[in-house]
Amino acid sequence: MANFASLITGRKPKLATTKKIRHCKHCRRELSSGTKCVEIPDPGSSNAKTYCLECCNSIIGQTHIDLKGLELMLKKATSEV
Ligand SMILES: [Zn+2]
Repeated sequence: MANFASLITGRKPKLATTKKIRHCKHCRRELSSGTKCVEIPDPGSSNAKTYCLECCNSIIGQTHIDLKGLELMLKKATSEV
């Protein structure tokens, strides 16, 4: 049987190392060349957005909260039938 679809679709976020000076998309912190960062593909374009590891942690935290909300919604819906 084929794998289930994921809510993380298309190109996946990946750990990268900056090759030149970049700025974190969220906190605007300067990431000097050679800094570990996370590149999250932008669904609206072929570009990826660069985030520092701290902000990526917060993004993952927010994703957990969103998934939890979805899970609760699903649980409620299935218990109503
Ligand atoms: Zn940041």
